[in-house]
Amino acid sequence: MISIDKISKWYGDFKVLSDCTTSVTKGEVVVVCGPSGSGKSTLIKCVNGLEPVQEGRVVVDGDEVTAKKANLTALRSRIGMVFQHFELYPHMSVLENLCLAQEKVLKRSRAEAVARSEKLLTRVGMEDHASKYPSQLSGGQQQRIAIARSLAMDPIAMLFDEPTSALDPEMIKEVLDVMVELAQEGMTMMVVTHEMGFARKVADRVIFMDEGAIIEDRPTTEFFDNPASDRAKDFLSKIL
Ligand code: ADP
Ligand code: MG
Repeated sequence: MISIDKISKWYGDFKVLSDCTTSVTKGEVVVVCGPSGSGKSTLIKCVNGLEPVQEGRVVVDGDEVTAKKANLTALRSRIGMVFQHFELYPHMSVLENLCLAQEKVLKRSRAEAVARSEKLLTRVGMEDHASKYPSQLSGGQQQRIAIARSLAMDPIAMLFDEPTSALDPEMIKEVLDVMVELAQEGMTMMVVTHEMGFARKVADRVIFMDEGAIIEDRPTTEFFDNPASDRAKDFLSKIL
């Protein structure tokens, strides 16, 4: 589904990604972790073409994202992305947030878009909040809406960049629960997170990054029980 082949990226003289290679198969859940500044956000942004690379190739579902003529708008409508900050449209109700791209990009009828939105609101436990505005919701509720909004586009894969790290502790679980359910339903996911409980529960593999490089890329239990590198051991000892 997602193939990342020897990508390198520089900001000026600074090498932010260094010869990164990995892949995610359909239905797989991969957690990306590592110290702050190690290149995790940059790596997943390369998957939907939000960041260009200077070397290497990224292919998603058969389409080369890194090709000069890649149709990035079409690609992004097929890959959902949820960031740390919720980025809902503040001047629109929850329902309008969910309907907008369905109608504008997927050309769904109003009735179809509303029906799909209502179904997804129920799925994330927000069915009673359709007419509220983002500012009337808690951070955890807003993030669940952001996930529902992505799902409304029927994505083939979902990318998450630290979706719970801006939330108060009591709201983290409600968002992780939605993500766990999504993973268990077979969604292909790449998730940057430091929530190691989540990783243990649903990740098939863990990628550990440091200084722009993929240092480990291994099945979850192997990564936790027996990290191969000192850098990963050191990282785990600090966060677990
Ligand atoms: P992480 O998500 O692991 O914290 P990032 O991918 O955000 O790391 O950033 C990796 C490194 O690249 C950091 O050192 C960051 O300062 C640098 N960086 C990120 N974006 C830019 C940019 N637009 N210009 C220059 N440097 C950047
Ligand atoms: Mg980041």
